[in-house]
Amino acid sequence: MIVNIQNTNERLSVYQALQDQIDEASRDKRQVGVLLIKLQDFNDLEAVVGFVSLELISKRIQARLLSVAKDHRSVIQLSLDTFIVVIPKMLNIGHLKIVAESLSRVIRSAVKFESESIELKPSIGISSSEDSEHNGQLIYENALIAMQRSYSEGSYCVAFEREFREQMKRDWDLKKDIELAIRDNQFELYFQPKVELKSMKVSGAEALIRWNHPSHGLITPHNFIPLSEQSGQIQIITSWVVKSAIQHLSDILKENPQFNLSVNISVNNLNSPDLVYLLQDTLSIWDVSADRLTIEVTETAIMSDQKSSLEQLEKIRALGVNISIDDFGTGYSSLAYFKHIPATEIKIDKSFIENLLVDPQDRNIVALIIFLAKQFELKVVAEGVETKTSVNEICNLQCDFAQGFYFSQPLPYNDFIEWMKSFSQ
Ligand code: C2E
Ligand code: CA
Ligand code: CA
Repeated sequence: MIVNIQNTNERLSVYQALQDQIDEASRDKRQVGVLLIKLQDFNDLEAVVGFVSLELISKRIQARLLSVAKDHRSVIQLSLDTFIVVIPKMLNIGHLKIVAESLSRVIRSAVKFESESIELKPSIGISSSEDSEHNGQLIYENALIAMQRSYSEGSYCVAFEREFREQMKRDWDLKKDIELAIRDNQFELYFQPKVELKSMKVSGAEALIRWNHPSHGLITPHNFIPLSEQSGQIQIITSWVVKSAIQHLSDILKENPQFNLSVNISVNNLNSPDLVYLLQDTLSIWDVSADRLTIEVTETAIMSDQKSSLEQLEKIRALGVNISIDDFGTGYSSLAYFKHIPATEIKIDKSFIENLLVDPQDRNIVALIIFLAKQFELKVVAEGVETKTSVNEICNLQCDFAQGFYFSQPLPYNDFIEWMKSFSQ
């Protein structure tokens, strides 16, 4: 039977069922473990196989879970893609993780269906009666928090920890603060120079966002960009970044007409046509030629919704804006993509540059990426260049541009302008 968790009464009955198991266990001094399982991207399958088939696939998964859980009472199905498995006599969290692993294994093994072979991936959240105050509702909610974390981390299972709740509260507050930040001008762009290796001249810069938070101080993008992507606020952040970057760029171009500025674009920005209009309008307002601007997108961003992303990228390229593939080498890096992505540049991820001198494999990868890029007439940037020896090495490998702490950290605008003057002297 599927319990509809959206329905209040049914939801309460799930909490009660969990409470009953906890109470029963408490009498025998046992602990109860809960595994909340969600099948990733299950609803997307509907468009491929249709709803009736979706139900059949869900039933097969349920049967597999029952075969592992054995006791029918211990599997509750909440919806087509969400299940609870109750372990009435858990030993410790390690025990629950072992069960999660076997559940994950049975879910992952392909479901053969008509002519299709469907592979599903679960996200599993684990909680125990001990860290849920022996409360049926709390044990469910803790497993849910852990499951959401497992999904966002891309790992198959996560066990609940108390600090997850505090983290959620902090994230929640931060999301609220992002709106104020735009209004109160708390964001700032820092600039990190990009140097052309042949001439050792500054060819441009990458704009990197910083948040001057009134109570937390300077916050780096890793602490709020992923959150703003989840909440949809990345759209307003990108809009601010693009406007501010192009405004600064128009100033730099007055002194340095060959300068090129890169801005980072998130996966979510490629899903709507807004970005194309934003770029077009802002370039025209500041009278900046499109070829002075580069947008950086990661391979993973492009691949997550290939069709829509490629369409948007084609339109952006048609404006004359350059396109750089960021963190290159960490994603799919398949040759076939080169043919389709209208890129003008690739940036070799800093993890390869870091190991260039110590790991011959990484040196080979860098050499190969540079070779490939040249075949496709793409410019190559090495990022994360920290030492003179790395500069020499990438020069030997015929890399075109470099960026990294060796030249400069990302700097506030005025400091960056000063730095450029002193570098060219
Ligand atoms: P990214 O695009 O790969 O940016 C490069 C990151 O490497 C920057 O971190 C930069 O400060 C750092 N870095 C530069 N040189 C070196 C070096 O020599 N060694 C090392 N270890 N690191 C170096 P940052 O500024 O903290 O940005 C982190 C990430 O946040 C960026 O990675 C980018 O993905 C994202 N990001 C930054 N600004 C924006 C933005 O305006 N919009 C969006 N959507 N994402 C942004
Ligand atoms: Ca970047
Ligand atoms: Ca990068």
